[in-house]
Amino acid sequence: MDNGKKPQDEQELLENGYKKYCGDRIDVYFNKCLCVHSGNCLRGNPAVFKFGRKPWIITDAADAEEVARVIDTCPTGALKYIWKTEKP
Ligand code: SF4
Repeated sequence: MDNGKKPQDEQELLENGYKKYCGDRIDVYFNKCLCVHSGNCLRGNPAVFKFGRKPWIITDAADAEEVARVIDTCPTGALKYIWKTEKP
């Protein structure tokens, strides 16, 4: 990770109420208790994030870099990600 944030530990996220949405190169994690419905994710990429759809997150509907970029706009940390492969 090169975004200056502490790398997330999957076990820690799952123990803290996050649900996992698997992707090919990146996994997304969501904790609904932390979501304040700001809509940043929905506006950021509606193909990946869409409330009311099941699943509401389709991780591979965009490039992994794009998914990470949108998640970085989440104001509360309700969305997190972990890279499964090295970034190119
Ligand atoms: S950006 Fe974060 S807080 Fe806002 S709606 Fe999406 S998950 Fe919820």
